[in-house]
Amino acid sequence: MKFLTTPPQKFDLPKRIVRLGELAYNLWWTWQPEAARLFGRLDYDLWERLGHNPIRLLQEISHGRLVQAAKDKDYLALYDALFENFDSYFTKQSWTQQAHPEFDNKPVAYFSMEFGLHETLPIYSGGLGVLAGDHLKESSDLGLPLIAVGFMYGQGYFSQRISEDGWQEALNNPLTFDHLPVTLVTKNNKPITIQIEFPDRNITAQIWEVRVGRVPLYLLDSNVEGNNDSDRLLTARLYWSDLDRRVMQEVLLGVGGVRALRALDYSPAVWHMNEGHASFLTLERARELVASGSTFAEAAQKTLGQNVFTTHTPVPAGNDEFPLWLMDKYLAKLWPELGLTREEFVDIAKHTHPRGDAYSMPVLALKLSGGSNGVSELHGQVSRGMWNFLWPEKEEKDVPIKHVTNGVHTANWMARRLKNLFEKHFENDWYDHLDEPDFWSKLDNVPDQELWAVRLHLKRKLAFYLRERVRDRWTQGGFHPVQVVSSGVLINPYALTIGFARRFATYKRANLILSDLERLLDIINRPNMPVQIIFAGKAHPADEPGKELIQKVYRTVKKAETGGRLVFIEDYDMNLARYLVQGVDVWMNTPRRPLEASGTSGMKAALNGVLNFSVLDGWWREAYNGHNGWSIGEDKEYPSHEVQDAADAEDLYHTLEHEIIPLYYNRDPKEISHEWIARMKDTMKTIIPQFSTRRMVKEYVEKFYAPALKK
Ligand SMILES: *Cc1c(COP(=O)(O)O)cnc(C)c1O
Repeated sequence: MKFLTTPPQKFDLPKRIVRLGELAYNLWWTWQPEAARLFGRLDYDLWERLGHNPIRLLQEISHGRLVQAAKDKDYLALYDALFENFDSYFTKQSWTQQAHPEFDNKPVAYFSMEFGLHETLPIYSGGLGVLAGDHLKESSDLGLPLIAVGFMYGQGYFSQRISEDGWQEALNNPLTFDHLPVTLVTKNNKPITIQIEFPDRNITAQIWEVRVGRVPLYLLDSNVEGNNDSDRLLTARLYWSDLDRRVMQEVLLGVGGVRALRALDYSPAVWHMNEGHASFLTLERARELVASGSTFAEAAQKTLGQNVFTTHTPVPAGNDEFPLWLMDKYLAKLWPELGLTREEFVDIAKHTHPRGDAYSMPVLALKLSGGSNGVSELHGQVSRGMWNFLWPEKEEKDVPIKHVTNGVHTANWMARRLKNLFEKHFENDWYDHLDEPDFWSKLDNVPDQELWAVRLHLKRKLAFYLRERVRDRWTQGGFHPVQVVSSGVLINPYALTIGFARRFATYKRANLILSDLERLLDIINRPNMPVQIIFAGKAHPADEPGKELIQKVYRTVKKAETGGRLVFIEDYDMNLARYLVQGVDVWMNTPRRPLEASGTSGMKAALNGVLNFSVLDGWWREAYNGHNGWSIGEDKEYPSHEVQDAADAEDLYHTLEHEIIPLYYNRDPKEISHEWIARMKDTMKTIIPQFSTRRMVKEYVEKFYAPALKK
């Protein structure tokens, strides 16, 4: 796709390395470790201190250092090689051109409330956003003409601090857009804006452009003159708890997003909604046709085939719904424009509960989309059951909701050391074969000790990183010594290390492994077989049970009997995620089945050779083959939560004690566990090709995008 803005020329760079400025403005660099090195090598300390932000680096670095780099032969060799890659990335023939030439000039629009692209652009809260970010990166790699729409949150997502007593504190960090890879979209030096009409006022939004490889991402921003103070805050934060703001945000995303693409002269051929937050786009598309003479029924029929909806929520309560009075308050102007009465309008998305009717965003999307899917096989099945009432004449298995299991963007999450190892042992173009299962049998040729050495290196790197984080936090003050211990300073880089990091929602049961503390302490504190567990994660600021769960975990972690082997790391984000999924030995996930629609962090861990130890839910239920990791509990329904929790905990302790720990410490004379490595190789062979966004985006193309072009 073409870009509509030019990155500002605001750096004072020597001519020989002037393109660093251009690179800083294309997030392509975030999935090219060599590009990160190119920035880092200029000044490693500054690079770390600025949180891997190349724009700030280029703004703050001394000119002398730049001049020096521009004369350094080694540096220039790296620079030239990298830009050769960068340029050929945009020109070489893509998978889409080869396999689906029909997408020429037929863009796919992708709407999401959040995008997790890099830690320096904190416009994501968790898995949903990271999945969206990975979807864009992969679409770029595959040459799929995708355009994305979301929000430029002025305050970003909060940073997390944990008080001495374990309570989560939320710090808001107003973002400085000048430090971020965003460029305002303008025409004749004036911002291009769109308007939304609410009954008592209009809201205006401007549009920022982000370059994600070849994919443009457009971010709406209501912080503009002309809007009242409250409306200016509409796009300040993710997921306002206040329902008025929440519904206005979603109108802005769905309706405003369509208008933004029109204002930018795009005419997408497919419209993909990542979760129900964007469902209002279906109405705006219908409204366009009603304005040119169609009835609503005709308009809905005509637009249906191009709408694609992905649901991520396996429980009715988790889905986005609004009370009807809010619809009256904010959308009363819309129903005559759709040629509908209020009743007809409400009927489209009505979800009837014992306590009354609500306007359901997933119902709206399901009814007005030609293609819908859940994000794993089990989640597809659960969704068909959950939404069967919308198609009362159909049997559950015929409910038109399919599934596309999530994946992760391999280059974004794989450690550089591991990529280097693959480069050494595989063909140069190994990355092109990523999603070919047979290709990965080549792993058998990689010597065990080389793989083991990479794993050890990555765990050491994690331990040192945690130490530097604590040092920094300790120096800032207000941190109790026991918190220093709880943050991982006593971590042993040679001990078996388990990671548990994700959003703290109660169904994820972070405390399952703590349910019998005495037993756990006995297991982790055995001589010569130490085990450590690293926890991390944020709770939504309005989620009191989630925050209480963090507190419970934190209070346990602080106990002296843990020996500093249980730790909680503050402020989980994509940067910490990268260190954890690359550095630990085992990735644990203990959701209450079947509530984890897919889960993706375990895939990031697996592609780095980390073994999963998880409940048979979401993606792991599909990936687990009996020897590429371990399961917790059984693939079945339990009579009650109590029974389920007790059975899962018992299974967890048993497997940890009798299988995982002995296997890890069963070493040959060179201190290598060959059985462990055999499992690692199995995990990588089975998971890398299947649970990648390469497989996932291709599947979206085959199942949804390409068929939509024909409708
Ligand atoms: C991958 C990722 C998630 C999602 O993790 P799940 O295991 O799917 O819950 C959440 N937050 C961050 C920062 C991530 O990188």
